[in-house]
Amino acid sequence: MDAEGVQTTSKEMVDYVADYLENIRERRPLPTVKPGYLAKLIPEEAPQQPEAWEDVFKDIERVIMPGVTHWHSPQFHAYFPTGNSYVSICADMLSDAIGCIGFSWSHSSVERAGLLGAVTIRKLATDENFTLRGAELQRAIKKDRAAGHIPFFLCATLGTTSSCAFDNIRELGPICTQEGVWMHIDAAYAGSSFICPEYRHLLEGVEFAESFNFNPHKWMLVNFDCSAMWIHWQIPLGRRFRSLKLWFVLRLYGVSGLQEHIRRQISLAQEFKAMLLQDERFDLIAPVTMGLVCFRLKGSNDVSERLLKRINDDGRIHMVPSKIRDVYFLRFAVCAASTHSADVRLAWDVIAQLAGRLLAEEEASVVSNKMAAVSLGVVNGEK
Ligand SMILES: *Cc1c(COP(=O)(O)O)cnc(C)c1O
Repeated sequence: MDAEGVQTTSKEMVDYVADYLENIRERRPLPTVKPGYLAKLIPEEAPQQPEAWEDVFKDIERVIMPGVTHWHSPQFHAYFPTGNSYVSICADMLSDAIGCIGFSWSHSSVERAGLLGAVTIRKLATDENFTLRGAELQRAIKKDRAAGHIPFFLCATLGTTSSCAFDNIRELGPICTQEGVWMHIDAAYAGSSFICPEYRHLLEGVEFAESFNFNPHKWMLVNFDCSAMWIHWQIPLGRRFRSLKLWFVLRLYGVSGLQEHIRRQISLAQEFKAMLLQDERFDLIAPVTMGLVCFRLKGSNDVSERLLKRINDDGRIHMVPSKIRDVYFLRFAVCAASTHSADVRLAWDVIAQLAGRLLAEEEASVVSNKMAAVSLGVVNGEK
């Protein structure tokens, strides 16, 4: 759907919303359907090809509304109110368009869960590709048991935040099963890529997982928040109808459209990687499997830190750094769905240009320091 498309469809939707809320008295507050009614009305799989907006729009009354409890009906007097107003619906549209995320990195989520649950967390060492391997897990479990601890949960990651590394769940899974450890798989970002068959090999071992999470709000064209968690239970009681937007996206893009999106973003990362590899001043520091390229200037951490500061001060592009095993690096993530090749080339030009200036200044200051040292030597009577 392009800008023109959304102008038409959103007007239709606004009319529908106003009509729905103005005439809500005509609907029974509580639906009469039984659990399972919906499964009979929808196909088992997402459509391969995109469907038409009109067909999805028609299905709101046919498929969705029969199952809705109308919390905003004036005849609804159950529980407590759930807030709503036209004003707030309008603001939500803007909030969705801005699509920013208010967060703090000050703990990651798993560490936070450990703190809240009052359990000790152990971080495990990874191999040269930043992959957690079975032998390391086995060693840690043994060590923990010997120290009187009870290892019970492993968070394995498919696509880590720092470097998009993939833990080896084929090795980790059987160990978890054997040791009675719950293996959770965090595939927050990379999980969406498994819609493409060529990335599904990264999922080998998933059958050992007790729970699995990925965020359509990261990489599947669904806006925040929509995090899909496969587990038997969860903590929240009240929550909004997030699956509706996921359903719209699945139908209006189709599997093929979503695959195309993932493949295009990965190819943009490959394009950036190719430019990087041609430039000897830089090192690639992790494999590029998805839409993330991790790199640094050769030399000390300090010089890469200064480069990132210059990039962000310059303001044309924005990136964040990360650090693994005391190696500081820059993360180039292909983010916006509208990013295309020219944007990637622009980013590379900015980076290369600012790196050039930084390195030239460094060189000049090394030379002038040397000259200062030489002249000091002369003053001190050294040769
Ligand atoms: C982004 C990310 C998270 C956090 O996801 P939210 O649900 O958006 O808070 C967790 N794990 C990994 C690996 C991530 O990349």
